[in-house]
Amino acid sequence: MNTPPPSLSDPDPSAFVCLGSHVGPCAVCQRKTHKYGHGGSPLCTWCMTPALEGWGPTARFTSTRS
Ligand SMILES: [Zn+2]
Repeated sequence: MNTPPPSLSDPDPSAFVCLGSHVGPCAVCQRKTHKYGHGGSPLCTWCMTPALEGWGPTARFTSTRS
């Protein structure tokens, strides 16, 4: 938990496991990410986590915590 995000110049890990055509800049930090992953959210993993916390339990996304 609480892993600090890497440099903004590093792509989100999700960008490596999706189709290249799905890779795009994060809507918040412009990091390359899987733009259409996680239910279509254009946020990278590092922006997604605080966003989920802000949205609360009504968010439909599956938690990535393990
Ligand atoms: Zn981001």
